[in-house]
Amino acid sequence: MRNELLKEYSPYLEFKNGTLHFDGVNLKKLAEELGTPLYVYSANHIRDQIRAYKEAFPDALIAYAVKANFNLGVIKIAAEEGCGADTVSGGEIYRAIKGGIPANKIVYAGVGKTDEELNYALEQDILMFNTESEMEIEVLNELAGKKGKKARIAVRVNPDVDPKTHPKIATGMKKSKFGIDINKAFEVYKWASQLPNIEVVGIHCHIGSQLLDLSPFGEAVEKVVNLYNKLRAEGIEIKYIDIGGGLGIKYKPEDKVPTPKDLADIVLPKLKGVDAQLILEPGRSIAGNGGLLLTQVQFLKQKEEKLFVMVDAGFNDLLRPAMYGSYHHIVAVEEKPKTIRCDIVGPICETGDILGEDREICEVNRKDYLAILSAGAYGFVMSSHYNMRPRAAEVIVENGEYRITRPREDWDYILWKETV
Ligand SMILES: *Cc1c(COP(=O)(O)O)cnc(C)c1O
Repeated sequence: MRNELLKEYSPYLEFKNGTLHFDGVNLKKLAEELGTPLYVYSANHIRDQIRAYKEAFPDALIAYAVKANFNLGVIKIAAEEGCGADTVSGGEIYRAIKGGIPANKIVYAGVGKTDEELNYALEQDILMFNTESEMEIEVLNELAGKKGKKARIAVRVNPDVDPKTHPKIATGMKKSKFGIDINKAFEVYKWASQLPNIEVVGIHCHIGSQLLDLSPFGEAVEKVVNLYNKLRAEGIEIKYIDIGGGLGIKYKPEDKVPTPKDLADIVLPKLKGVDAQLILEPGRSIAGNGGLLLTQVQFLKQKEEKLFVMVDAGFNDLLRPAMYGSYHHIVAVEEKPKTIRCDIVGPICETGDILGEDREICEVNRKDYLAILSAGAYGFVMSSHYNMRPRAAEVIVENGEYRITRPREDWDYILWKETV
């Protein structure tokens, strides 16, 4: 029963002889060996997700959104599977290239790109700048000119659809800071296509994240195709249609999640007759359930109202519960016949440092381990040093073996170059 639910998170997650395993690795042994908090990523899970996209969209470029999980080992897996990268900063372009993704498969979005970042991206000759304002296009034109280059751009259009997700991760609505209103985009394209150092090649949109209902995708793609047709009639040739990422994943046990194939069934019919390469930018749906966070129980405390389980991971390690009120399923690494009801809380000196509220888990004691599921995306990448806490180590598991891809930090690492 328990294993059946786990399989819905990842086929590589299961209890064997009463102990939780991920991609063949015993998580209790792993935690004992490497310490906690520890981010664990399953290479096979990540590969399977990418392959599901490639099967559903055989002709598309799958540009993995590295902001979801920018660990070099994870990027390398994406590179091995033939992915490009969707990036949102110069540093992410740098990482993507270090991880083995060819520059000519990298797209670059973001509302506040600096000159330094734009110059770096121009030098690397990336596939496409997903531009977010007219001023950005002007600056890019100027910077490209100085280098004697032409910058390939898409305009990120804001299709004004409601993605029906958490307001903090909805990006395609009128009032959001992202993109250019789709009704205005046609004029912007006409203007940009006249600039000497700009080559207009694409249309980009990204409407939000953790989408469980796919109808907003359909709406957005329809609007993008209308724009594509209008531009074509004007003689502006569009080579790439980039529809962003956003496919949701399972967080709660009751969540029913769409697959890349479901997305293809909505999107591909609308692109019939469109002579442009499709680009997708999935992040969460590639890495999210490919990762979990292992943490150790430090203390238990029974207060009048509830039982608190204090663990060694806090919102400096996993921000999503505190930031978005997100649910992450939590399971004890060892199965026990008895269960307890408790709040699972971190060590950070903030009341909001709650990882799981009012949860039923197998009975645990001091030094036992818990696994926080669905932590492979927007997990480690959002971690901080708050309360002077070194960031967790990251390890990749694959077919019963593991490799440390980022060692645990220590206090001196945090003090790097700092002086009194
Ligand atoms: C964050 C982001 C993505 C990835 O979104 P997911 O929901 O993780 O798939 C893709 N494209 C852009 C422009 C983004 O900002």
